[in-house]
Amino acid sequence: MKFIFADSLDYVDPAFDFIADRSPADRQPYWDDAYPHEILGYAPYDGVLVSRGIIGDHRVKGKYTASQARRFHLVGARKFLRLDTPQFAKLDIFGDCGAFTYVEEERPPYTPAEMAEFYDECGFTHGCSVDHIIFDFNPALTGLAGGTDDAKNRFEITLENADGFRREALAMGASFTPMGVVQGWSPGSMAEAARRLVAMGYTYLAIGGMVPLKSPEIKLCLQAIRDAIPAATRLHILGFAKADDIDGFHGYDIASFDTTSPLIRAFKDAKQNYYLPGEGLALRYFTSIRVPQAIENPKLQRGVKKGSFRAEELVRLEALALNSLRAFDRGEADLDETLHNVLVYSAPLVEEKPYEDCKSSVALAKLAERYRITLTEQPWKQCACKICRDAAIDVIIFRGSNRNKRRGIHNLVVYHDHIEKLDLKRAVERTDHLSQRLCGAER
Ligand SMILES: [Zn+2]
Repeated sequence: MKFIFADSLDYVDPAFDFIADRSPADRQPYWDDAYPHEILGYAPYDGVLVSRGIIGDHRVKGKYTASQARRFHLVGARKFLRLDTPQFAKLDIFGDCGAFTYVEEERPPYTPAEMAEFYDECGFTHGCSVDHIIFDFNPALTGLAGGTDDAKNRFEITLENADGFRREALAMGASFTPMGVVQGWSPGSMAEAARRLVAMGYTYLAIGGMVPLKSPEIKLCLQAIRDAIPAATRLHILGFAKADDIDGFHGYDIASFDTTSPLIRAFKDAKQNYYLPGEGLALRYFTSIRVPQAIENPKLQRGVKKGSFRAEELVRLEALALNSLRAFDRGEADLDETLHNVLVYSAPLVEEKPYEDCKSSVALAKLAERYRITLTEQPWKQCACKICRDAAIDVIIFRGSNRNKRRGIHNLVVYHDHIEKLDLKRAVERTDHLSQRLCGAER
């Protein structure tokens, strides 16, 4: 099972100064910053996925600047992502259309021929057909039952495009593996879409529209799809937001999935920001410690404007929290004092009140409980990855992109190891199973 990391320019500045809290003045982000595989010196994933929607163009507003988009087209995906060294030669580069960026449109803005040319010219190893997201979902429907007119229309557009896309790829002798995208409004309609894609000649399918679904719903879809297609057909899950539940998906023979969740969770989850390997095959999560920039945080600035806080006081509390955390990491401050200083600065953020006015608040008490676990266990000292060795306690501080994305990159390392362990488990089970059968035959 391959873990494909969905990139959206997730790089960090190797020269970032944690104490001064800034990058060198002459930093040029794309050129000076490092992708996860560069800062670590190895790739914590089996491949990278780039969405056309993230690159953007005159039709779709992407995340790349105009010159970055130009460079991507000019030098290709591998060189742009700096995966063009022998060390990374085996890494896959998946492409998709980024259907979420044009979900409001009546039809996708790209033609199958245009996308096939794009994947081929930019050197992708795998390219997804031009799909149109279906958002309605009913887990109980079988076959082609139900479905709004809009859903049925998108279903037909997706299949029509897939047919055209595969023909275009074959006609141009494309160097990438074409993948047919499954869209549907129910397990039954997805199974039917998969069946039709296989009939067109696809041997690798990518299942779309999974992002809002819960794990049991995704399993229903996978089961229905698996029942409708040959065992040899490979399956990819696009945008697998439930990536932490991956060990529950072994029975569906998933060849690959892409996700960005271990990285994103580092700064978008309320509690589970820092990963460590847990008991057995589980992951363990820690809450990162929020010390936002007093003069940049919108909530704190609102408090200043309303007259609830003085800016100088917030800056003082911020420095006290940061200095305490660093002293704690060096063994020069005790846990209670450090936690207290962090909470004093957290109060304006959590309750929008001075600490003295809300120190018994439930929200603050819950936060204190989670912070206490983080500070007691010091997980950043339990990880040997390069990020944690270099950044020390700064990896657990929730503050600005350079700390938050570093924590995300650490999570990718832990997550990738987690996936590899799971595959090992499956291999062991299979061998056991096989040896039992062999023993049975001997008898
Ligand atoms: Zn680490």
